[in-house]
Amino acid sequence: MDFDMLFRGGPVITVNRHADVADWAAVKDGKIAAVGSAQDQPTDACAARVVNLKGAAMLPGLYDAHCHVMPTGFFLDSANLLEVKSIAGTLAALKKQSEKTPKGEWVFGAGFMSQNVKENRFPNRFELDGVSDAHPVLLTAQTLHGGALNTPGLSKISVPDVAGVGRDEAGQPDGVLLSDEAFFPSMSQVMALLPEARLRAFIESCAQYACRRGATSLVGLLGQFVDGDTDVAIVERHKADFPVNITTFYQTWDLEKIKQYKLQRIGGCLTLDGAGFEYTMALQEPYPAKSERRGFLIHTDEEVYRLVSQAHREGIQTAFHALGDRAIDQLLYVFRQVIGEQGHKDLRHRVEHFSLPWDKHMDMLAEMKLIASMQPAFTGIWGEPRNGYYDLLFDRERAARMEIFPEIIKRGGIICGGSDSPVTLVDPLYGIACCIDNPDPRRNVSVQDALKIFTYNAAYSVHQEREKGTIEPGKDADFTIVDRNPYEYAGRKEIYGMKTLMTVKDAEIKYQAAGIF
Ligand SMILES: [Zn+2]
Repeated sequence: MDFDMLFRGGPVITVNRHADVADWAAVKDGKIAAVGSAQDQPTDACAARVVNLKGAAMLPGLYDAHCHVMPTGFFLDSANLLEVKSIAGTLAALKKQSEKTPKGEWVFGAGFMSQNVKENRFPNRFELDGVSDAHPVLLTAQTLHGGALNTPGLSKISVPDVAGVGRDEAGQPDGVLLSDEAFFPSMSQVMALLPEARLRAFIESCAQYACRRGATSLVGLLGQFVDGDTDVAIVERHKADFPVNITTFYQTWDLEKIKQYKLQRIGGCLTLDGAGFEYTMALQEPYPAKSERRGFLIHTDEEVYRLVSQAHREGIQTAFHALGDRAIDQLLYVFRQVIGEQGHKDLRHRVEHFSLPWDKHMDMLAEMKLIASMQPAFTGIWGEPRNGYYDLLFDRERAARMEIFPEIIKRGGIICGGSDSPVTLVDPLYGIACCIDNPDPRRNVSVQDALKIFTYNAAYSVHQEREKGTIEPGKDADFTIVDRNPYEYAGRKEIYGMKTLMTVKDAEIKYQAAGIF
């Protein structure tokens, strides 16, 4: 037998440098062994297993380059509160969740939005006590910037004495936590109380979900969610068991911590500024609607410099969250200084989000060969040209500069694509559609570039382009088979309906849609 698997009967979109579309691909020993055109196609007898694509398109395994693994798994495993309209509805959803949760174990609710419930506030612990007296309960905001606990839940942790802790008439915490300072340490204490099996189940849920959405690899942003960062240890220990590859970015400012895992990278969504929704994105000029505010930088230049300089010296890649032009400016000038002092080393430092860059920033990114790690799904959800969120937040000029993919590419920048899951749940096909047929056509890129953003470039962004990202001999047998050829659907609304039919990781079928192959 020449091959373990032969895929034929549909376009094999290689995403190689010539953007070739082949007719078949064969696999041997977990690697791609050969790719070719119809005239040199091997017979079915040459392969132990033949997958007839029946016209479906085969892509390199899709790669989500920015995924918060633990919060995604937490969201998927919790009562979903995205649609609740009242506090009574919230309590009912949590009660249902408590009925399928063994007594004594935590009941979680996620996706709560106070602006969606008619009371326009979080439920307090007295209300949450009505859910169950046999379960501690934690409910979290959709943004993960707030939450609430019932009385048994509250008794298990020590809530910090900071602004944002809700208080009852007697001055005691009422269970509602409305600031990051109040919520984050409380949430990470709750997570640290969970048995390792439950933390691992969060990772597994995220990985399973990603696999069904066609992802074969994730850059997992880990740490900062569980006291003691046990999630990093779990992923590193059980890597081989998940249905997707997870590449860890350990979100810490302490270089010593990554060394115990021999990681070659540090950071991830290490925030240098906030986000647009909260008017905390760091801007050079104020928000038009809030002329007194232009967000803020969370760290001094010196703090950022210290970590980048130390990491660069030791040959370690870094990544930081920088959305606004002022945060991007801070980070790029730190990179420029460090590279100026120590030389360029092909470390591929990443700027996460890179949402509002100016021409100068795009040129600096390209010149220093840094990576813009972006989330095209954001533009699909918030960037509509009319009545869109960007237009509400900004003046026209800045709204039009948000996430301006073709301009970044034109200036020589490399973009890798992610979801920022659970902000938008892992869905690389949606991200690709947003790059090809954006609600604002000024954001459209070619089909090949759109595919590269979620395949080759994502692999390149973590130094894996020799093993992943295209369908070429010698690379890992990671594939995503989709129901329509993106080249044929470019410029048609139906590109948004692209669906995963099969996910193959390391030559193993990890997911397949029912009744197709
Ligand atoms: Zn993020």
